[in-house]
Amino acid sequence: MVRRINELDEQFKSLSDDALRAKTAAWKEELSKISDPEEQWNRLDEILPEAFAAVKNAARRLKERRHSFSVCDQPMTWDMVHFDVQLVGGMVLHRGRIAEMATGEGKTLVATLPLYLNALTGRGAHLVTVNDYLARRDAEWMGALYNFLGLTVGCIQHDQEPDVRRQQYACDITYGTNSEFGFDYLRDNGMATTREQQVQRGYHYAIVDEVDSILIDEARTPLIISGPATISTHQYDKWKPLIEQLVRKQTMLCNRVASEAAEKFEQGDVETGGRLMFKVKLGQPRNKQLLRMMEDPDKRRAIDKAELSFYTDTRKEELFALKEELFFTIDEKSNEADLSEQGRTFLNPDDPNAFVLPDLINEFTEIDLDTTLSDEEKDKRKSERQQHCDEQAERIHNISNLLRAYCVFDKDVQYVVEENKVVIVDEFTGRKMPGRRWSDGLHQAVEAKEGVQIDRETQTLATITIQNYFRLYQKLAGMTGTAETEAAEFHDIYKLDVNVIPTNRPVARKDHNDRIYKTRREKYNAVINEIREHHTKQQPVLVGTVSVEASELLSRMLKREKIPHNVLNAKFHMQEAEIVARAGQPGTVTISTNMAGRGTDIKLGQGVPELGGLFVLGTERHEARRIDRQLRGRCARQGDPGGSRFYVSFEDDLMRNFGAADRMTKIMERFGLEEGQELEHRWLNKSVETAQKRVEQRNYLIRKRTLDFDDVMNMQREVVYTYRNEVIDSEEPRTLIYEVIDEAVPAKLKEYLEVDEPNYAGLIHWVNTTFPLGLTKDKAQFETRTVDENAQFLIGKVKEAYERKSSHEEPSAVKSLERYIILNAIDRLWQEHLYAMDALREGVYLRGYAQKDPLIEYKTEAYDMFVELMANIKNEVLHNLFRSTSNLQAFENFLASLPQFLLREDAPTARTASAPARVRQPQPVGAMAGVAMDGDGAGEMSIDLPVRRSLPKVGRNEPCPCGSGKKYKNCCGRTA
Ligand code: ADP
Ligand code: MG
Repeated sequence: MVRRINELDEQFKSLSDDALRAKTAAWKEELSKISDPEEQWNRLDEILPEAFAAVKNAARRLKERRHSFSVCDQPMTWDMVHFDVQLVGGMVLHRGRIAEMATGEGKTLVATLPLYLNALTGRGAHLVTVNDYLARRDAEWMGALYNFLGLTVGCIQHDQEPDVRRQQYACDITYGTNSEFGFDYLRDNGMATTREQQVQRGYHYAIVDEVDSILIDEARTPLIISGPATISTHQYDKWKPLIEQLVRKQTMLCNRVASEAAEKFEQGDVETGGRLMFKVKLGQPRNKQLLRMMEDPDKRRAIDKAELSFYTDTRKEELFALKEELFFTIDEKSNEADLSEQGRTFLNPDDPNAFVLPDLINEFTEIDLDTTLSDEEKDKRKSERQQHCDEQAERIHNISNLLRAYCVFDKDVQYVVEENKVVIVDEFTGRKMPGRRWSDGLHQAVEAKEGVQIDRETQTLATITIQNYFRLYQKLAGMTGTAETEAAEFHDIYKLDVNVIPTNRPVARKDHNDRIYKTRREKYNAVINEIREHHTKQQPVLVGTVSVEASELLSRMLKREKIPHNVLNAKFHMQEAEIVARAGQPGTVTISTNMAGRGTDIKLGQGVPELGGLFVLGTERHEARRIDRQLRGRCARQGDPGGSRFYVSFEDDLMRNFGAADRMTKIMERFGLEEGQELEHRWLNKSVETAQKRVEQRNYLIRKRTLDFDDVMNMQREVVYTYRNEVIDSEEPRTLIYEVIDEAVPAKLKEYLEVDEPNYAGLIHWVNTTFPLGLTKDKAQFETRTVDENAQFLIGKVKEAYERKSSHEEPSAVKSLERYIILNAIDRLWQEHLYAMDALREGVYLRGYAQKDPLIEYKTEAYDMFVELMANIKNEVLHNLFRSTSNLQAFENFLASLPQFLLREDAPTARTASAPARVRQPQPVGAMAGVAMDGDGAGEMSIDLPVRRSLPKVGRNEPCPCGSGKKYKNCCGRTA
């Protein structure tokens, strides 16, 4: 195939520019006539060699002419013609697979081939990048090629208005970040109320750049558009002082136990010492003495041994007893916090049961069995117990959050405090993420701990995970330098296969063995020494860190050593790209978190290859091997020389929590490791990798779980969004209204009549409060007909009345009103549904304790709730049908009752404000991109019960929603 493409490229050389360009137009024309997508794909496969050759040929022409243009306001000269391996990469992408191509292999250029080919269909081809800067850079850079060939290219940027966005989407090819694409989808489908307001035009073909980062690293963070929640129940302020005391007591207790343990160790009673320290670990995983003891191989082994032995089945009871000696226990790995009997008594001496959940199922059974109670009393009793349980759950949840906030979340590690706000620091990139919040009250707990203002919880208005957004595409492809280690996950979850493309030139990088130290301090000293070595001989060094703090620490150390350097934190993409691009110059030292400057190529300066090329120095092994590979891949591009080495210490989180501690300790003993000494051996790298694999596996399961839950919501969202779009697109919304009548009226009739004792009076009452029919018992004659006949009778009456009403009004106004009625019902109830689903999701975990699979429970309940939602939407439509059309005043009232953004949309003077999210637009993307729960095992530690809220009711003294101007109690409320 590659040969064929190159032959064609050879042939095309004789064509004029116009003749080459004419191919684009001819293919577009031809493909536009094929309406069957399947057939269209087949045709694309056929023209692939020619199309790729045309792109390559165009690139050659640009290079020969030294075509110059500007990219991100910098002058640029085109100097690339596709290599053979790039053609192979292009084919892989066209086939909807992941192309693994090492960093520096020119993936940006590779993507031009399939993007060009797939854009010929005229249905839009998207390229997804990791940040706005790269979107713009690549669109402008590759734009030279597309424009030459006669295709248009657009680029989505965060600050664009809807009109501009629409133009970008209308281009043949569109570049943008995943969150911009995702938010546009949510706004188009969840908020826009007319076709004109929508900006996207379908999901045909997308290539995701750095696909591992988006599908794997960000898999736990859905895109969320949210507004402030209407209810807030937290009591963090109230509990904070007590919890502070409790934490202090626990610290004292743990310190005492640790000193005792130290004595035991001194006396040679290693076993007791280990046991005591394990207790400290349970109660205070970050206890200073504990951390110090873990550095000592003997003690460390004793503690690990105690831990292992306690987790054997036979010692469950003992473990339980041990936990009861503490006030609470904290599990650092799973992020869980649990009160013991002592702790509960301390918090509430009068009622230690205040922090245990009642056994509702049992209580309900007992109530049911109680023959002295009437059904009504039983219901009442049950709802009392339910409410009691809700309160307990809320309280436990608050306490647990606070304990975690105090014991597991450290200031300046997981978060920083800035301008009276708690700002999350991304564990992967070290970036601060203003506007993002931990969900489920945890953020508020941390706010309480830090004594800053406790912000209101927000409520989800629309949400989707990035993964589900990408599933919308008919064909999806991805590219990255590092996919291989996660190939199984890509295959299982996303049905994406990974193809590893060989490099254009052989890789000349030398990967050295890890160097392992006892403590962080020793490790960092060694890091500085190695940096100095390279620096003295002018060899450039790129130092990778896993957090902003580590970067800053190293920077301070380098300053002391008077070694000039740059620090990148993935904050200013464009400037960082410039700094990174210079990281290959002689003598430069660049410190960078693993995300910073990603996607920018590091070219070696003059004389640098002779010095050994760029040296990459990792200061810590990351949880995922993939991220380490990525860091290594930053040097030795395109056959350049280069080297890499990682530094590890036993104090690193990875080693503390998942390290092959036992083995390591043994090795340390065997070698008799001394202060400042290091370990270095091939199979030590293996041990580290084993630990990494273990974390990867665990994180995979967490992601899979998240997606399983999200799948349920995804199907519901599809149904609702499809319906919503049908309403928006419909030329005759009345047919949709009539469909609602046809379905909802019979359902209501069944509710009243298909029961043991048909409730005719109730039915008539409902009819008269919903429709202006003025039915009486005599007029209706319901008793004389079957349920079906009654339904037909009523449907006829309602439609007739409706025709009469609307015949007085301006037809186009009626149409848009009809659309509004349905959209309004969908939006309002869907948002409530999202809220209830959130709560349900938290709630099912509680039931997990009752030996039921939370996912199955969730699916069943979610389904029921969805059926109820759809029925409610229809009922709401019926209700608003006549209330809103009767007169102008009513219409205005109706509009006033719509959510704010809908109003803005419609007001002719506010044309520019057409995207609902504009209300929140001054904030960074992050403000809308809530983190569902960035911690481990989202939701698992939650003990919230679902809170079902009844629909908001109109107050008796408020104006009646029908628009009569009278008080509700004197109008519609009189009969209700
Ligand atoms: P990747 O995304 O794979 O890491 P980039 O797309 O950023 O790589 O490209 C890396 C560098 O390689 C860029 O400077 C680009 O100009 C150069 N490059 C890519 N393909 C070619 C080519 N066919 N000929 C010459 N230079 C190329
Ligand atoms: Mg790239």
